[in-house]
Amino acid sequence: MIGLKTPIRELKMVGPSYLVKLKKLGLETVEDLLFYLPSRYLNFARIQKIAGLREGETATVLVTVRDFVNIFTKSGKKIQKVTVADDSGSLPVIFFNQTYLQKIFTPGVKLMVAGQIKRFIKDYALIAPQYEFYKSGEAPFHTGRLVPVYRETEGVTSKWIRTRIAVLLTKLKPLVSEFLPPQILKKYGLMTLNQAVLKAHFPKSLDEAQKARKRFCFDEFLMIHLNSLFAKQINPDKNKFVADIVKHTEALNIFLDNLPFALTDAQKRVLFEITADMSKDIPMNRLLQGDVGSGKTVVAAAIIYLISLCKFKSVLMAPTEILARQHFQTLTRFFKPYGLKIAFITGKEKSKTDNNYKDIAVIIGTHALLHQKLPAENIALIIIDEQQRFGVRQRSSIRQKGNNPHLLSMTATPIPRTVALTLYSDLNLSVIDELPQGRKKIKTFVVPPEKRQAAYNWIRNQVSNKNAPSPQQAFIICPFIEESETLSTVRAASQEYLKLKNEIFPDLKLGLVHGRLKSDEKDEILGRFRQGHLNILVATPVVEVGIDIKNATIIMIEAAERFGLSQLHQLRGRVGRDNQESFCLLFTEKDDPEIIERLKTMEKYHIGIKLAEYDLKKRGPGQLYGIHQHGSLGLKYADITDLPLIKISKQAAVELAGDKNLMNNPYLQEKLLQYKIEANSQD
Ligand code: ADP
Ligand code: MG
Repeated sequence: MIGLKTPIRELKMVGPSYLVKLKKLGLETVEDLLFYLPSRYLNFARIQKIAGLREGETATVLVTVRDFVNIFTKSGKKIQKVTVADDSGSLPVIFFNQTYLQKIFTPGVKLMVAGQIKRFIKDYALIAPQYEFYKSGEAPFHTGRLVPVYRETEGVTSKWIRTRIAVLLTKLKPLVSEFLPPQILKKYGLMTLNQAVLKAHFPKSLDEAQKARKRFCFDEFLMIHLNSLFAKQINPDKNKFVADIVKHTEALNIFLDNLPFALTDAQKRVLFEITADMSKDIPMNRLLQGDVGSGKTVVAAAIIYLISLCKFKSVLMAPTEILARQHFQTLTRFFKPYGLKIAFITGKEKSKTDNNYKDIAVIIGTHALLHQKLPAENIALIIIDEQQRFGVRQRSSIRQKGNNPHLLSMTATPIPRTVALTLYSDLNLSVIDELPQGRKKIKTFVVPPEKRQAAYNWIRNQVSNKNAPSPQQAFIICPFIEESETLSTVRAASQEYLKLKNEIFPDLKLGLVHGRLKSDEKDEILGRFRQGHLNILVATPVVEVGIDIKNATIIMIEAAERFGLSQLHQLRGRVGRDNQESFCLLFTEKDDPEIIERLKTMEKYHIGIKLAEYDLKKRGPGQLYGIHQHGSLGLKYADITDLPLIKISKQAAVELAGDKNLMNNPYLQEKLLQYKIEANSQD
């Protein structure tokens, strides 16, 4: 019998080579697969006659194959040209480098073919469309409907995932037993869980898809609210550590005076809020939010210093090796006059210290910290940088590394205050709402394709100008292909790098970083960039967060339309980190006016929260961007800025919390644990 917890490996339809790949997508059980919602839908619902097709339209046609030819081009490419026809006319269908299709598209075969009508050479054509055999009496599956598209990974296509999920959906009845009482479903206009799973994968309309998704989002918020209602009923454990701020004010002042800059008022204010928390006997749980470049690191450094004065240790966790190392370097500089020692731990590297970390003030590292034995008794403060990049589990297990420690999470992701307070009433929020003095707005331009060459020339001039007051450097961010940095992303980035290096900028020094490099390779390249030995750093989008390089003044972003505005803002924040004039060039090959308009808001707005609001308003149903914009706080489906849904789910939580029967439902209990931020359990 197949149940939700059945491992995928036990399903006949999944071969062993797939298991590893699916695991990369986080898919290990039947439940994972069923709850793996599409990121968007292809609208192939309209079945049309060939004669009625218009350019730019997306449609499905039912056709018979007339002819198949392989065309070999001079450049070594192979083009497959298939001629298909219905009773209204004929149409070319074009594929590239898929000679094996000859076996499928044999003359006389009936197929459903779906895609967007484009011009190829001069004729209308379907280029690399979706297709499937027509079976009389059976509804089409990959065409002729709203077709779900899933986040893919190397070797696992949407088509494959779609087929497996469809098989599962026919086998499992009921999929999940509903845990919400019918009157709640009715009151809040929710689908049953069963319906929601079905309709999220195979909706009849985008409206239906949206409604299905609403159920998943509602449930997520509900879990968070219920957890926070229960958390309030328990008295938090007393913290064994209380910072005596008064005693150390003088020393802290000296530390701040010795910094190479004066703190902004906002930095001072949040530092005060944080130290006030740390002098209480319940552990701090505070989120420090500050726009990109607002100077969160120095605030972290100051409280680490304070903790060291109190003879306790801190842990600082960052999401990437590059960022962890940067923090190590920054803090080494800040702490040098005081003789504070720092330990450094990543997956590949561990600085030499004794196992008790005796003289160490702060342990800096990546999630590799989670697998280290740390001297928990002495750890009084844990700081998570770029917290939105960590999963809930990682965030909760890092807390276990201290003795009921103070927790400071830092993020540049803007979360409106009202949302934060409604959603996390037990979380305190500090906001750095100003940038250091003298920062200039980063001049941002959406660059049309025909100006690409001019842009390259301009970049060359800027970065090779020996007369500039200080050297300038540029980032070029390669197109984002998929969320997990698979080989195909890396391959594309490497190709782009070679092209830039050999054809566009043969006279300049370029480097390439991507997630698949070894850590010492990454460090080496980044080090060379930091020291000014490279003019241009080509990078994939996932390695970017937090990097702080003062001379980098230009960032060029390829295929900008694939990012949400918040992500573009994060990327843009890699430049303009000093007082030099800086530039952000956004490239897109799309000429869709809506896309251009959206990108142009980057020219207008320079504040993260404004951009996030704009994106939220404009984002249509079912349209998600590649990287989760609000992966923060462990939400898989819901949008953290969706205040209306947050509010109604809160009301529902209050109504439901007293229902003992419901609260004992095993399914609900499991979900509650998943969304628990305050971890009491050992991970
Ligand atoms: P983020 O908040 O994005 O993590 P960082 O902490 O990396 O930003 O700070 C960005 C840059 O601004 C760093 O180079 C840092 O040294 C500098 N900085 C931080 N605070 C100030 C300040 N008050 N005045 C001038 N520069 C500052
Ligand atoms: Mg930072």
